[in-house]
Amino acid sequence: MLAEMLTVDTSHGRETEALRPIAARLRAAGIPTELLESAPGRGNLVARLKGSGQKRPLLLLAHVDVVPVEGQPWTVGPFSAIEKEGFLWARGVGDDKAMAAASVAIMLDLARSKQPLARDVILALTAGEETGGSAGVGCLLAHHKPLIGDAEFALNEGGGLLLDDALSKVQSVSFGTAEKSYQTFRVVVKGKGGHSSVPPTDHDPALILARALVKIGEHKFNAHVLPDVRDSLRNAAAFEKAPLSDALRNAAASAPAITATDESNLVKDRYYNALIRTTCVTTMLSGSPKDNVLPTTAEAIVNCRILPDETREATKAALEALVSDPNVAITPVNDLYVGPASPIAGEVARAIEKVARARWGTVPVYPSMGTGATDSRHLRNAGILSYGVSASPTSIAEARGGHGAHGPDERLPVKWLDEGARFLRDLTIELAR
Ligand SMILES: [Zn+2]
Repeated sequence: MLAEMLTVDTSHGRETEALRPIAARLRAAGIPTELLESAPGRGNLVARLKGSGQKRPLLLLAHVDVVPVEGQPWTVGPFSAIEKEGFLWARGVGDDKAMAAASVAIMLDLARSKQPLARDVILALTAGEETGGSAGVGCLLAHHKPLIGDAEFALNEGGGLLLDDALSKVQSVSFGTAEKSYQTFRVVVKGKGGHSSVPPTDHDPALILARALVKIGEHKFNAHVLPDVRDSLRNAAAFEKAPLSDALRNAAASAPAITATDESNLVKDRYYNALIRTTCVTTMLSGSPKDNVLPTTAEAIVNCRILPDETREATKAALEALVSDPNVAITPVNDLYVGPASPIAGEVARAIEKVARARWGTVPVYPSMGTGATDSRHLRNAGILSYGVSASPTSIAEARGGHGAHGPDERLPVKWLDEGARFLRDLTIELAR
């Protein structure tokens, strides 16, 4: 089923095509299944296994759209599902089709084994996650709410089953409880325009904008260690070298506070920096359309990733205070929704720990925060406690070697796919029985 899904290029729509054979399999197993389109070709599949109704439903969510491959140096056909050197190579294998295929297998397995369920188990395979989720889970929540809206918990992408570099054992298990929120700002300075042979001597919009962007780019938002981040830092210490490993261990111990010394060591690594503070970075710039024309508008796009305990409004106010220039207008560009964090302790956390320990012994199990955004924010926003989990073990070395999500030559170690799916199945049964 995974190979079947991988060979449909869902980087520009066509989710329906990838989901049609899945819907047929589920229906053949007697599981009521709907395939709904938010636009032509943009399919979303929802299937439901009935439980006793003693508890509210569990939702298994995975997206079947993928990011594009254009311009990336792939060494294999990205939609050929090639198996070689012990890996399965394909766009979307890790993000998020392995989880989608595992979730389908779990539904079929639960139906076949007639597993008694204390709650309904809902499967939703969605479109458009990579472009904000409105074609997928956003559409389901807005227009088909009864199909998934009664869920108490959701298991979505956004966790980790981390292998050692030799891909020989599971080293740690993380589950996503929080995500940074995403807010883009437009930063605009207006000018009078005119001929570039007579530049302005008092009000040059490009210069004013540049000064503002230097202030924004050099600003360090307040660093602190959230409960969702603390254990990720502590566990990362095991595979980093000193002084970074010491800083990680210290920051976990002193959380939420972090000393200036530890902070200065952590920020040398862009990933750890992003875990301990809100970040804002300039991603787009524009000015005049012609080299000999003065700009009437100089504009930058600044993308902020905001810690879950801070707000978009406070971030905007911080940028305005930093720039502190009435000629510079800062306005929010989009609203991609923010969802509250899910509890780091409780029923789901206990179930993940129990299932992981039963399978992999004394492996560390801990909550984590995503620096990016997934469909979980839509679910959390709708009152469903969403948790990021993984069904596809891989190593840090694989990700750092460029084989992770969104990169060229995305791949997963084949021998662990089965184990990952079984972990998700055990977790589903633990929560739903
Ligand atoms: Zn994804």
